Amino acid sequence: MNLSILYRGPLASCNYDCPYCPFAKRHDPPELLRADREALERFVSWAEASRDVGLSVLFTPWGEGLTRRWYRDAIVALSRLPHLSRVAIQTNLAARPDWLAEADRDAVALWATYHPGQVTQDRFLARCRRLDELGVRFSVGVVGLPEHLAPARALRAALPPETYLWVNAAEGHRYPPEQEADWTALDPLFGYSVRPHLSLDRPCHAGETVVSVLGDGTVRRCHFIPTPIGNLYDGSWRSALAPRGCTNAVCDCHIGYVHLKPLGLREVFAGGVLERIPAGWPDEYQTTTAAPAS
Ligand code: SF4
Ligand code: SF4
Repeated sequence: MNLSILYRGPLASCNYDCPYCPFAKRHDPPELLRADREALERFVSWAEASRDVGLSVLFTPWGEGLTRRWYRDAIVALSRLPHLSRVAIQTNLAARPDWLAEADRDAVALWATYHPGQVTQDRFLARCRRLDELGVRFSVGVVGLPEHLAPARALRAALPPETYLWVNAAEGHRYPPEQEADWTALDPLFGYSVRPHLSLDRPCHAGETVVSVLGDGTVRRCHFIPTPIGNLYDGSWRSALAPRGCTNAVCDCHIGYVHLKPLGLREVFAGGVLERIPAGWPDEYQTTTAAPAS
């Protein structure tokens, strides 16, 4: 059995102050940080013991995880498990990445987001260069706000062509065709992000081969459907896995719709689904073409 897990513990604090984020400069009290650490350690213990499951894990914290030692330790430990094929985390890349030298570089990956205004481009690029030196797989992305276009273009120009740069459509922002074309020139797959995907009753891998797990072990199909289907720690998740249609009207977040079966994005991102790196990047994307509308 193979299972992808999107893990999100109680942590909800961040060292950055992005104006578009509810977790900007939020501080977690010590007891919440302790609970987050304990929950993560329990999850790692579960993963270590679950040798009959082929695991892949994406950490999707509300805030920033890599400034916390326990996330770095968890990623190193998970990367070394023989039954784990990938462990990745969404990060702002503020923390120095040198700790990744301890991880199994065949298994570890980062989903890094560049936040103009929070970090200089030189500093962010230095982090990317270090990841390349370490041989760590990573994608880089930006939120597609108008004020981010110039820094995103500069970032794309400065990054090696082998590094995939994704663009997330900004929440509540409409993209006239010329704006969509600007962003699509940077990310040929931007079209998948710019229009929410109608998902009601459409088959989705969520709840079948990929699940969302909270700190207390609650298992849900995905981060966007709150109904629990079981718990990781009492084993009830095993019998809960089944093919299902989506019960939401739309799915508009990459970590969700990448699993929506009719879109076929698991094939587009084959080998890099969790860290958001398309298969065949960059060779198969020499001609920029917009992703199809849903
Ligand atoms: S880095 Fe991410 S979590 Fe932190 S404030 Fe910015 S958007 Fe929010
Ligand atoms: S389409 Fe999106 S919201 Fe629906 S089950 Fe899949 S991941 Fe969840």
